[in-house]
Amino acid sequence: MIVSVILSSSQSMDSFDFLRDLSESKEARFRAYFQANRDPDLVADEIDVKRYDIDLEVFPEEELISGSVGFKADFVAPAESISLNMNSQLLEVDSISGPVDEYTHTSDRLHIRFDRRFEINDSIQIQIFYHGSPRTSHSNSLYFDWGTHGGYPMITIISEPYGARCWWPCKDRPDDKADTVHFSITVPDPLFAASNGKLVSVQQPAGGRARYTWHEDYPIATYLVSMEIANYVTLSDTFITDEGDTLPIYYYIFPDDINDLDMLLNTIPTLELFSRLFGPYPFMNEKYAINAHGPAGAIENQTCTSLHPAYMSGDIGFDVLIHELAHQWWGDMVTCDSFHHVWLNEGFAVYSNALWYEATEGFESYQQYMLDQRYWGSGTVYVEDLSNWPMIFHLGLIYKKASFVLHMLRHVVGDETFFMGLRNYRQRCGYSSATTEDLRDAMGEVCENDLDWFFEQWIYDEYYPWYYYGWSCDSDNETGWETTLVIEQRQLQLADLFKMPVDVRLEFEDGDSETRVVWSETSSDTFSIHSERRVVDVSLDPEGWILCSKHEISLSSRDLVIPEPAYVWSPIPNPTRDIITFPTNYWPEGSISLFDLSGRRLMNLGLDPGNEFQSISLRNKGIGPGSYVVRFDTPKHSYNRILIIVD
Ligand SMILES: [Zn+2]
Repeated sequence: MIVSVILSSSQSMDSFDFLRDLSESKEARFRAYFQANRDPDLVADEIDVKRYDIDLEVFPEEELISGSVGFKADFVAPAESISLNMNSQLLEVDSISGPVDEYTHTSDRLHIRFDRRFEINDSIQIQIFYHGSPRTSHSNSLYFDWGTHGGYPMITIISEPYGARCWWPCKDRPDDKADTVHFSITVPDPLFAASNGKLVSVQQPAGGRARYTWHEDYPIATYLVSMEIANYVTLSDTFITDEGDTLPIYYYIFPDDINDLDMLLNTIPTLELFSRLFGPYPFMNEKYAINAHGPAGAIENQTCTSLHPAYMSGDIGFDVLIHELAHQWWGDMVTCDSFHHVWLNEGFAVYSNALWYEATEGFESYQQYMLDQRYWGSGTVYVEDLSNWPMIFHLGLIYKKASFVLHMLRHVVGDETFFMGLRNYRQRCGYSSATTEDLRDAMGEVCENDLDWFFEQWIYDEYYPWYYYGWSCDSDNETGWETTLVIEQRQLQLADLFKMPVDVRLEFEDGDSETRVVWSETSSDTFSIHSERRVVDVSLDPEGWILCSKHEISLSSRDLVIPEPAYVWSPIPNPTRDIITFPTNYWPEGSISLFDLSGRRLMNLGLDPGNEFQSISLRNKGIGPGSYVVRFDTPKHSYNRILIIVD
C-alpha cells in the first residue's frame, strides 16, 4: 500500500521532507484508532472461514450501504458462540439468519450465540443483514470516501489494516483467508463497480440501477476485498505468458484520463519480469486490473489494484505501479500472517522495484535504488506493538529497511539460491499467510543453512554495524604477499554486534582487483589474506550490500577514538540567517541542544533520526542573531560547535 500526499511537479520538496509527509498522513489516520483499541481484535479462533457472500446496494446520495454478508465456516474448536469484527458506530445489524439463538453488537464486536453447540469439523452458514454509512474515519482505521468525479459519485476505499470490519462484518485478520468471495454490488447507472476476481454478471434491476457480481476464487484476506465505484470506462489488454497462457488485463479509468495513461504500458512488461523472477502471476484464472482511485494513494487489492491516476500518467510515482503489481505475489498471494510481519508485504514490494531497475536499466540502477533505501534510525522491522499505530507502516523500517534486508539476504545466500528461495517461500506459503520464520525456513531449506542469526539481527534487533577497518600489506618473500585486515565493530548506537559476511576488495599494484569474503562478528576480527600480487588498496563492502557505516582507520593508530568527520558534527551553513541542517544518520541515539556563550542551555532542538538530514528553523524557535554553542550528545561522546546567526 502507498498512502500519499499527491505532489504536483511544481512542488519541489526534498525527498526526505516528502517521505516525512507520507509518514505523518498515516500517523494521523491511525493515531486515534489505536488509542481507542490498544489491543488489536483477534476474533473467531473457533472457525476457519471458507467463503463470504457479500451483497450490497450502494446509495451515494444518502451515503448509505445496505445488504448482507453471508459466510460459511468450519469449526476448528468446539463452540456455542463466536465473535466477528463489525464496527458498531458505522454499521447496524438488521437481522441474522442461520442457527442463531441471539446476538449482540457492541464495542465493534458482533457476538453470535448459536442455538446449539458445534463440534470440530462441523460447518456453519450464517447471513448477516445490515446497513450503515461507513466513511473515512481516523478513529476507525478506514479510508472510505464518498466523493465525486466528473459530476458522478465516486467511492474509494482503503481497508488495510483494520478497515474491512468498518464496512462489512467479517473475521478481520489476515491469517484466515476465505477460499472464495462472491460479491454483488448494486449501484445507480451509469456507475461501474470494480472488485476482485472475475466479473461474472452485470444485471439491470429496475430503477436505473446496475448489479455487478464479482467472484474471487483464490484465497483472499479481508483487507484486500475491494469495492471501488465511479463512472469508469474500461480498457482491456491481454498478457500472454511464455507458455501461451492468457491473462485478461483491465483498466477501469476516469473518462477524462483516457489520453494520459502512459505508465500503464509498463503493466505487461512488469508481469513478464515478475513471472520470470517469482513464478507465474498468482491469479492467472482471473485477471489483473487497475482501477482509478480517489483523492490519493494506492492499495494492492487482490487482482484489482486501486491506483491514483497520477501514477498512471507518469506525472509522479512511476514506482507505485510496479510496487502494487509486485504485491499481487507478495502481500496478496503470500500475505503477512499478522501486521507484526507486514514487512513481508511492503519490504518485498519495495525490493521488487529495485529488481525492476536491475532488469530494465542495469545493476548500477539497482544499486543506486537500494542505497536510497538505507534507513539509519532506531526500531525493529518486526512491528513489536500493533497498538503502536505508526509502526505498521513506518516508512523507514517497514518499507526501506525491510527492502534492504532482502537486498542483504540476496548477497548472503547468493543470487541463484535467493531466487530459488523465493520460489520455495511461494510454494510453502502461497495462497496463505506467512511469518518471518516461514521466509527464514523457506530460504534456509534451499541454502541448507540455518539463517536464524540473519533474521534475528536484521528483523528483531535494531540498527546496523559500524565498521572501522585498517590494513597493511607485507611481503612474505617465499610465496607472495600477506595482507593483514582488521575489522572492528564500534557500535556508536546502543546495538549489539552484527554477524555478516563482508566483501573485501583488494586492489593490486597492476590495477587489477579481486573480491574476497570475510566474516565480521566480534568487536575486533583480524584476517590474513594471501595474494601473489602486492595489494595497494582495500575497500570494504564496495558494492553496498550491507546496511552499515564504514570508516577506514590506520592500523598503527587504531586505538584512537572514533574518527570525527567535521561535517557529521556541524550545523550547515554556519554562519546562518535562520535554517541549519545537519546529518542525523550517524547518531541515532542522542540529542542536540543550543547553549548561549555563558554555557546556559537554551533549548533542546529535537532529533529526528528517521531521516538522513534534519533542518531546523532557528527563527521559528525564537532564536535571534548572535553567537551560540550547538552541542551534539551521543551515548558516548559530546561535540560542541560555535554557531553564528546573522541578521
Ligand atoms: Zn505497498
